[in-house]
Order: sequence, then structure tokens, then C-alpha cells
Amino acid sequence: MYEEVTERVQKVLQRIQEMRPQESVKLMAVTKTRSREEALVAVQAGAHLLGENKVQEARAKWTEKPDVPLHLIGHLQTNKVKYTLDIFSAVDSIDSEKVASALNSRLTSAYPVMLEVNAGHEQNKTGMGLDTVRKFLQEAQQWEHLRFVGIMALFPAIIGATEEEKKNIRDLMKETGELWRISQAERFPWAPLEELSMGMTDDWEWALEAGSTMVRLGTALFGPRVY
Ligand SMILES: *Cc1c(COP(=O)(O)O)cnc(C)c1O
Repeated sequence: MYEEVTERVQKVLQRIQEMRPQESVKLMAVTKTRSREEALVAVQAGAHLLGENKVQEARAKWTEKPDVPLHLIGHLQTNKVKYTLDIFSAVDSIDSEKVASALNSRLTSAYPVMLEVNAGHEQNKTGMGLDTVRKFLQEAQQWEHLRFVGIMALFPAIIGATEEEKKNIRDLMKETGELWRISQAERFPWAPLEELSMGMTDDWEWALEAGSTMVRLGTALFGPRVY
């Protein structure tokens, strides 16, 4: 089992290297439903950081901050901010002003976050539409401790999508990549936006073609999830 994870991580890293040579694209191992041991195997094999989508589950796995960066990639409930700051080195899922304010109010120094974008405007996902990103960033100075280091984008699932829907997803990825570059060029001191976190197990190669600097992989590294 662990050998398989190691092999899969190495294969992904190799493919990233082929697709985007000379660049520092990061591989995030998404460890929801996976053990602490599995997470550490992925890190040992070369994954650059870890992602968890639930504060509660992550707290059961990590009693303190792990040695590698651990990012929150799921919706942050405002009553869990304190626990979040105990173990997560960044929150990539700032999906509303409410969440930004709640997090900021608990901080005393600069903390890295990403703005979460729901590129397909899907009802079952949190995150803002592409059309609200620029306005949100312009106003983000009000949260004096939040440093927006990137954009994390979510897209409709590829599984079960028609060819036309797949093309639409690829177009959305390109659009997101362009929006990220435009937002970066604003050079807001509170929003350096170095990272574009985009791409999961079924679409990460497309995401890399569209400019992603960080892919978030669960199934591709650990196999299918059993809940
Ligand atoms: C679960 C999850 C992933 C990884 O999904 P896979 O399809 O298993 O690679 C990536 N991003 C977010 C926000 C997730 O919740």
C-alpha cells in the first residue's frame, strides 16, 4: 500500500516536471479519510504540502502543526477558527467576507490565505464567482492580518461530463488562469497571489496547461476514498 503511494507520488512529480520544466509547481497531497502515516509516506515521496478539508478530521490526525505545510481546503466554520490556527499553516478556502473577518479577528500577525473561487457557480460548492474576485481583492486590505498568497479554484466534476461540458471546464480553467495573472498584476501589497491552486485527480493535467502552480491530489495518490 505504502509502496504504491510512493510510486504514484513520484509518477505525478515526474509528469509535472515534464509538463512544466524549470518551474516550481507544487504537489499538495489531499489526505481526507487517510491516516497520518499515509500522509507522511506521500511527503517522504516528495509531496510538498498537505491539504485537509475538515478541521475536525485534521485535528484528530495532527495534534500540532506538522513539519510540512498543512492547508485547510474546505469551508471554514467560524466557530472553528481557533482550532484551525493551531494546526493549519494556511487557509486556502476564504469563500466569503464573513470567513475572512472571523479569521482576521483571531490573528495578531500576518497569515497566508487563498481566495476560493467556484468557477462553475455550482450550488453545492462554496467559493465566489470569477466575476467577484477583483472587487473582493480590492477590498481585502480591510483584513489587516490576511495575506492573500493565492487563488484556489474549484471546477465542475469531469466524471460523467459530456465532451461539450469538458470543453467548458477547460475554458473555465483558462479564464481562471487569466484572471489570476490580471489580479497578480495589480500588485496589491496585501495580495501577492503567487499561487494558483487548481487541478484535482481527474483534471490536473488540464489545470497545469492553464497555468496552475499547485495541484491538489487525493485519489490519484491514495486510491479511491472509502467513507
Ligand atoms: C478532496 C479534494 C481534493 C482532491 O480530490 P481528488 O479528486 O481525490 O484528487 C482537492 N481539492 C479539494 C478542495 C478537495 O476537497
